[in-house]
Amino acid sequence: MAEPLNQVFFPSSLQELFSAWSRFPDAQPFAGGVGLIQGQGNKILELPKNILSMDKLEELHRITRTERYLEIGAMVPLNKILALGKIVPEAMKLCLQNIAGPQMRNVITIGGNICYPGRRLNLAVPLVALDAHYELRNSQNIRWISAARFSSLPGKPAINQAELLTRIRIPLDQWNYTIFRKFRRGKSGNPGEVMLFLIKNQKNVLTDIRVIFGAETILRDKNSETLLIGKQLPLGKKDALDFVEHWRTYLFALESPVYSPESEGAHPALDDLTKAELLNFIESNILTISE
Ligand SMILES: Cc1cc2nc3c(=O)[nH]c(=O)nc-3n(C[C@H](O)[C@H](O)[C@H](O)COP(=O)(O)OP(=O)(O)OC[C@H]3O[C@@H](n4cnc5c(N)ncnc54)[C@H](O)[C@@H]3O)c2cc1C
Repeated sequence: MAEPLNQVFFPSSLQELFSAWSRFPDAQPFAGGVGLIQGQGNKILELPKNILSMDKLEELHRITRTERYLEIGAMVPLNKILALGKIVPEAMKLCLQNIAGPQMRNVITIGGNICYPGRRLNLAVPLVALDAHYELRNSQNIRWISAARFSSLPGKPAINQAELLTRIRIPLDQWNYTIFRKFRRGKSGNPGEVMLFLIKNQKNVLTDIRVIFGAETILRDKNSETLLIGKQLPLGKKDALDFVEHWRTYLFALESPVYSPESEGAHPALDDLTKAELLNFIESNILTISE
């Protein structure tokens, strides 16, 4: 019998989706489709042989809000998140506004950006910084995973075969100071590298600080953060400069790839220019909140 041609499934429930997936294990979820056709210049596009469109899965398009969380279905396009307005944490808003162009943001979904298999894309950075969690489902189970753990493997998401990202839960904490930077957008096919600097304070005490850098791997030095938590604001100059020095040491330790059981892999070494840009970013921001 002849091999079936390409097939596109349009399940209207997750049960239907997983049933099709068990019959065609090579099938690929299709969200906005931007990542699946990225880099193809030919008139005839190459698509996976079996496609699972998630368009009709109503629950993946849902957005809900509680007092503490914003929950976004994996199929929600980036512009729809931006249209929510003030409720969207600043770190996420700034990142969304810097992904592709406005038309593309109507098509690219939050789930497609998080699950892109080839390389780490931009949204991982604010989602790690904000302590987001992801709901993953397969035909049998539902599990939750932190954004940090999901993005802990260099360059690829921690998602299993025949598993679907369904929901993203973002805590609605109040951050008092958010600085976002993205650079090297020019390189073709490169989504750019993203840096975030976040601060929470209560009255004059610094209660939380996050500095996160995201490219192929996500870098965060929790030891440096611990140094400053509980300090009075403005910070003393020495504390601010110590923070930068800790980051410098951390970055230089990456010179030879660092293997850690938690990341189950190596952080690729950064080039000198990236290190310098990152250290400049950290220094200029930390000095802003020091004497
Ligand atoms: C011109 C251009 C500019 C771009 N600029 C940027 C940029 O500035 N920053 C940036 O971060 N990215 C950028 N991108 C990349 C874009 O964010 C990714 O291609 C993203 O994957 C597109 O999302 P999508 O919804 O179209 O996903 P799709 O193409 O539908 O899917 C991408 C991959 O994720 C899988 N997938 C999708 N949803 C799920 C799910 N819910 N569960 C499990 N797996 C899933 C699919 O099977 C596929 O393998 C750009 C792309 C283009 C073409």
